[in-house]
This record gives sequence, C-alpha cells and structure tokens, in this order.
Amino acid sequence: MKFDLNTLVRENIKALQPYSCARSEFSGKASVFLDANENPYGSGMIKRYPDPLQLELKRKLSAIKNISVDQLFIGNGSDEAIDLLIRTFCTPGKDKILVCPPTYGMYEVSAAINDVAVTKVNLMTGTFQLNVPAILKAIDKNTKIIFICNPNNPTGNRLNDADIKTILARLNGIVVIDEAYIDFSGAESYISKIAANNNIVVLQTLSKAWSAAGLRIGMAIADSAVISLLNKIKPPYNVNVYSQQRALNLLSNYSAVKRKVDVLIDERKRLANALQKFPLITKVYPSDSNFLLIKTAEANKVYEYLAQQKIVVRNRSKLELCKNCLRITVGTKQENSLLIKALKKFEKIK
Ligand SMILES: *Cc1c(COP(=O)(O)O)cnc(C)c1O
Repeated sequence: MKFDLNTLVRENIKALQPYSCARSEFSGKASVFLDANENPYGSGMIKRYPDPLQLELKRKLSAIKNISVDQLFIGNGSDEAIDLLIRTFCTPGKDKILVCPPTYGMYEVSAAINDVAVTKVNLMTGTFQLNVPAILKAIDKNTKIIFICNPNNPTGNRLNDADIKTILARLNGIVVIDEAYIDFSGAESYISKIAANNNIVVLQTLSKAWSAAGLRIGMAIADSAVISLLNKIKPPYNVNVYSQQRALNLLSNYSAVKRKVDVLIDERKRLANALQKFPLITKVYPSDSNFLLIKTAEANKVYEYLAQQKIVVRNRSKLELCKNCLRITVGTKQENSLLIKALKKFEKIK
C-alpha cells in the first residue's frame, strides 16, 4: 500500500527548521578548514568532525543491501533509529505504538521516554507467532507505529509472512520490521517490499552478525521520504569518525562476515542438541537467530549457578510467556563448551 506519509508525521517535525552544521553547508573541495571551530593542531582523522551523512559508508552499505543511498539512514546503533522513528511520528501524550511481547525492550522504553503510550498484544502461547486478530482489534487512529521484531528477540523465531502482510494491509501507520538477527535466519529481508509499501521501515545493525556491537552502527532502510525525516531530526554528527572508518574496513571483507555467521549457525545446532539432553532443561525453543531460549525447571537457580561459574546468560523469566526461561547467546566453540560443562556440574550437585 502507498501512503501519504505527510499525514503520519508530527506537525512540529514537518515545520522544523533543522540545524545546519558547518560540514553540511559546504560541499565543494577545500583544503583550509576554518569553518567549524576545530583545533587544527590535532593528529589524524579525529581532529575533524565526521561526515554528518556518512556518505562513503552509505555507498558501500547500500551496494551490499541493493538499495539507493537515500533509502538508508545510519544511526548510533539501531536504538537511535527506534527513538527517532517514535519522535518523528508519535505526538507525546496522544499517539501510540504497538508492540508484541515478549520482544525487544527498547521499543517500549523509547516510547516511555517520549511520553508515547504503548499498546501491547502478546505473541501467541506455544507458537510465539503474532496474534493478528487481537492486533487488528487493538489498532486505532492514534496507533502510529507497530514494531515487529523478525526474527524475534528473545524467542528467537521468525514470524509468519502472511501475518505481517495482513497487518501491512490494515495499519494506517508505520510498520517497523526489526531485522537485527536476519543474517542468522536465511530469510529474505523486507527491504524488497519497501518499493510497494512506503510505510515499511527495516532496521538492521552491525552489532550482531557483523560482530561490531562496539561501533554502534545501526541502519534504517525505508522510502527516501522517511529517511529524509530521520536525517532532519538526528543529532548532526551522530556517528563518530572512528566508527565510520572501522565499519568501512569491515564492509570491505563481507565474505569473512558470512563465514563467521556460518560458524555460529553450526554452533547453534551443536549447542541446541547438547542442551536438549539435560533433564533439567525442559525445552529448547527453535532459533533463527544467534541465541537460544530455553525453559528450565528452575531458571533463577541455573542463572545464579552459571553466574558463580563466571558465565553470564540472560534471565528472561520475568517476561510475558517466558516463565523459567533463560536466553543464551551462541558463543565461540570454547565458550559453548564451557557452558555445557558448567551445566553438567550443576546437575550433579543439585
Ligand atoms: C540487539 C538488538 C538491537 C540493537 O541494535 P544496536 O544497533 O546495537 O542498537 C535492535 N533490535 C533488536 C531486536 C536487538 O536484539
């Protein structure tokens, strides 16, 4: 469906005159930079402000993603994109987002920070799929964004395309598809659906498959009109020089990234098989991501024991539908083996 995006954007954002920084006002070639109050007696690349629009990085990324540069936003992590999307489309105290717990926690936190209400429609028990009838019922004229995490964190599974399609056809708002884990899933990205649906925003990140969480580089991929809005309201220099440089280096070796992902997928299989053998673990949920959600008889005890052994996993047992569940990131071969060994020890002494 094609939307008149203007009808979804907050009035103050439409009217906003954005900050114009020194580096975006001049686009020619210069050799003497007396425009940005930098101290020239510094060394190397850090003495200058970074490219506010990260064009070199975007050219490389957009070639890999098969999109145009103006369909790509780069943020200080995809968490920045989540916040900016809420601020672009949701009027505080009036508009709402919709999320489907158990899911990634930042959607709700970002909404709360912005005084935007959150409608929650739980995933379905057992399958962890979207509850489409309940979602359609919960949507109203103030529901501006629905966040769909696919594959979902912390359940690890992919969501049904048919369900997402139904929601796309019925929501007069933005549908965010958070694909932080897509590289572990073998699924096709929703990027290919943006041309026909200008209300889709796909989020991806260098933090997971790319093994570069410390760089804080996240992407929003969408219709160029949406990307313009995010660029309009972002902090001018939101991605630092060093991160842009290191990301460029990473991208020039895409095949190395793919190899590392394949290793993790193999390890996911090995770890899942091993975990399934423990009587204390009652369920290992199927995963399309780089982590495994497991159900145990006593999540808190297992969590505490592992922590004593200096192994930290994520205790998710307080989340909806996740009673007694732990989320375990697939680590290196050696780390996974240490986890298995520690669990064996726990079973013996318990
Ligand atoms: C890890 C994660 C992110 C965070 O990405 P950053 O780019 O590191 O901010 C976003 N979404 C989901 C679902 C995640 O699990």
